[in-house]
Amino acid sequence: MTRTERAQELARRLPRIYPTAHCELDFSNPLELLVATILSAQCTDKRVNMVTPALFARCRTAREYAEIPQEELEGIIRTTGFFRSKATSIRGAARDIVAKHSGEVPRTMLELIELPGVGRKTANVVLGNAFGINDGVVVDTHVTRLSLRLGLTRQKNPVKIEADLVKLFPREVWTLLSHWLIFHGRRRCVARKPDCPGCELRDICPSADRA
Ligand code: SF4
Repeated sequence: MTRTERAQELARRLPRIYPTAHCELDFSNPLELLVATILSAQCTDKRVNMVTPALFARCRTAREYAEIPQEELEGIIRTTGFFRSKATSIRGAARDIVAKHSGEVPRTMLELIELPGVGRKTANVVLGNAFGINDGVVVDTHVTRLSLRLGLTRQKNPVKIEADLVKLFPREVWTLLSHWLIFHGRRRCVARKPDCPGCELRDICPSADRA
């Protein structure tokens, strides 16, 4: 089976295996998703979702994020880890959103990655899940691991992995693709002991029983 054939089969199977795959961060608007995604670095979505209700109640606009004192923000987000740099990123991004984008989260990759603390991954999360724009594929630790195990790439660098994935899958599934792979990575193809015997992809996976 070629890499392209495997990708086609995955695009056929994964939506059936994970018909409800979705972004597991809680949010109700693009600004909340941007903030939650910054908080999710090196942290579980579950932990982020425990912190964001209080944060979203305290800050409702980009201006409020720009103006919240650093120490107060650090206190609210402390349990997500790396809270000093995350607080700095959130306040910095919010300041730019107010100053350069009239307080609205921008809708393009170029504008998003210019915001402090926002890289391609965060930008892809926001574009795909808050705006419904398939600009690229979110490549996190699960997508990296599964792309390698499933033989979709040989690259280890997320930007290069993304470049391989967008060649293999049609644009309309790019956002869903990362959700499918993340769901599979959390539920079946976990990092340490993947459940190959029970895996729905075993017959097409080049790493089956070898991961
Ligand atoms: S067969 Fe094993 S390595 Fe391959 S996707 Fe399934 S759990 Fe992961």
